[in-house]
Amino acid sequence: MRVAVLCGGVGAARLLRGLVPLVDGPDLTAIVNVGDDLELHGLHVSPDLDTITYTLAEAVSAERGWGLEGETWQAMDMVKRYGGVDWFGLGDRDLGTHLFRTHRLGQGATLHEATAEIVAAWDLDLHVLPVTNDRLRTLVTTVDEGEITFQEYFVRRQHDVAVTSVRFELAEGLLPAPGVLDALAQADVIVVAPSNPVVSIDPVLVVPGVTELLRSRRDDVVAVSPIIGGKALKGPADRLLVELGRESTAVGVAEWYREIIGTLVVDDVDASLTADIEAHGVTCVVAPTIMSDLKKATALGQVVLNASASR
Ligand code: GDP
Ligand code: CA
Repeated sequence: MRVAVLCGGVGAARLLRGLVPLVDGPDLTAIVNVGDDLELHGLHVSPDLDTITYTLAEAVSAERGWGLEGETWQAMDMVKRYGGVDWFGLGDRDLGTHLFRTHRLGQGATLHEATAEIVAAWDLDLHVLPVTNDRLRTLVTTVDEGEITFQEYFVRRQHDVAVTSVRFELAEGLLPAPGVLDALAQADVIVVAPSNPVVSIDPVLVVPGVTELLRSRRDDVVAVSPIIGGKALKGPADRLLVELGRESTAVGVAEWYREIIGTLVVDDVDASLTADIEAHGVTCVVAPTIMSDLKKATALGQVVLNASASR
């Protein structure tokens, strides 16, 4: 069975970890948000790609959900000493990833090539594709600072500021990375990971061809709600939905995705929302969706694969 997964960072990495035991590596493709990417200290940082790689390599910090386990911060201490940019922490080992990626990009490699090299070096055999090799940046308009980059909102402001709009800056002539549209066209099931709909999945959907493909295959598209009992497990997904005029519930998620998904998997605690979700023309499947360990993630992965098979 071939499976393509639209991905942000932590929520997506957890679901992918549950799918890895169920799908042959070469048949599993992660299509990953790059709207969060940033340049820092002259380095190209791709937070969502790295969260996925480190999680699948069982190297991620369990406490933070991003970055590496056993990380140290000596390089950042030096940056602080000099009064450099220190609001975005880069661990000492993690810096090696950014050095390698930036060097490869400087040599003329594309982001998808550099990513494939990084993923292979961690002995992972699934495909991890940035949704595009071209420049795509998520910009957030805040009430007090106007428009700022995603990471300034998420990390520097700790997403503790009201947002009035979100937009995506796309390079002229931006294209999907090689393999992205083929993976979506050939997948038996397309999964929308339980990532932030507004700032993790939307920047994947704006890449030309992606939304069109999902619309045309809507019955084969299954999303998992990142909103459980009206709240995001972590991060601002709940708040952003409300600020952008939606409901911060699994119903709000169904409404957000209604054009592109046939099925929404929601948590047991949201079982009572089934009728309201189905009123949006989206089949609702109820299951435990908190992936606190590998067993739970794999059980959810199986629910997702079955959900598409049963339509
Ligand atoms: P980021 O890019 O690292 O911020 O992460 P994502 O956009 O992928 O994910 C953030 C979303 O993942 C949040 O809205 C969380 O509620 C959701 N999430 C994280 N872990 C889980 C989980 O175990 N189950 C579900 N259903 N959602 C999760
Ligand atoms: Ca992210």
